[in-house]
Amino acid sequence: MPGFELFGDLEKKQVQDVLDNGVLMRYGFDAMRNNHWKALELEKAIGERMQSTYVHTVSSGTAALTVALASAGIGAGDEVIMPTFTFVASFESILAIGAIPILVDIDDTLTLKPEAVEKAITEKTKVVMPVHMCGSMANLSALKTICKKHNLLLLEDACQAIGGSYQGKPLGSIGDLGCFSFDYVKTITCGEGGALITNEKTYYENAHMYADHGHDHIGNNRGAEAHPFLGYNFRISELNAAVGCAQIERLDEFLAIQERNYTILRNALEAVTNLQFRTVPEGGVENYSFLNFFLKDEETARIGHQALSNAGIDACFYWFDNNWHYYRKWEHLTSKISLGKLPKEVLEQLPDYNTSDFSVSDHWMGRNISCLIKIGWTEEEVQQRAQKMKTVLSNL
Ligand SMILES: *Cc1c(COP(=O)(O)O)cnc(C)c1O
Repeated sequence: MPGFELFGDLEKKQVQDVLDNGVLMRYGFDAMRNNHWKALELEKAIGERMQSTYVHTVSSGTAALTVALASAGIGAGDEVIMPTFTFVASFESILAIGAIPILVDIDDTLTLKPEAVEKAITEKTKVVMPVHMCGSMANLSALKTICKKHNLLLLEDACQAIGGSYQGKPLGSIGDLGCFSFDYVKTITCGEGGALITNEKTYYENAHMYADHGHDHIGNNRGAEAHPFLGYNFRISELNAAVGCAQIERLDEFLAIQERNYTILRNALEAVTNLQFRTVPEGGVENYSFLNFFLKDEETARIGHQALSNAGIDACFYWFDNNWHYYRKWEHLTSKISLGKLPKEVLEQLPDYNTSDFSVSDHWMGRNISCLIKIGWTEEEVQQRAQKMKTVLSNL
């Protein structure tokens, strides 16, 4: 998956443009910058590739999620539905604005289970935030229907699935808002960076102001700009955006390599009995950043994961035990351990996750093995890996 694997001349040239004039900031300094506007250029390229009218780039994927929620007016005490399997950034962004993360089961798509989403809706629910984990997507048509019925926003976290699509549309562009991360280990990287996309002008206008201390960005005297509401600083720097300009150009090249590598592994594993691939919702096309499969039970998955590692197959994850991606190890969230005092809404409304029943999620995650697809592998390396994996998993 990581774009850093193919970091090269294109990236260097883009960064050099910025270094040549020394304007490291996305706003202002018009005379000095020699017409280089990397953040703007990156936003234009993302908008075209993602078929979205509005794009705003920020400092990280977590920032993108936070700004997206804030831009839609989500705040203290509002409930946001998110999956049990995701990165911690999901609840961090929700808590950052004083809202309440409502954890909900996943299914064999490894993303939100629509029936569980519907059950979790209350008077306070404002947003459903599916996370397209490990390269594939949630059942977006089911979630859209639920959101429509209950008048909720759909915010797609497409940080791990950039370039994938659903019913012909790019992931991230299907909900009211979509978010991407360009951190160092994502399919394309800026070093650090993120973006939100939307077709809703109001969200976009709110987003660029909120992400820059509330600056209204009207006129060309930054110091004289008005601040229509309270904001924050989630800006991306021109240096980071420059790397992104090179990487977005290469996105489809990266995806093609991922698809080739994924397909070789998948074809080999089709022959293994008692192995079930992750379900991809109808009309969905993965971005092929991971190959996910289920073994017959938790014990087999643990043994299988260890056996793959013993055979020298790196980059296969057993997320069930992971500190960062699954609710079982999120004791800082479930026990409300924060540096300072949490908002009263969070203290009062956060469900007691130590007593919650997520056995449906456990059923899938306990059996899941998730193998990263690298773009730096040669075809021969992938062929060898495929044969090794097939042998190890067939012998379980
Ligand atoms: C990486 C990631 C994020 C956060 O991105 P950062 O840029 O690291 O802040 C959010 N959600 C998911 C699913 C991610 O994988």
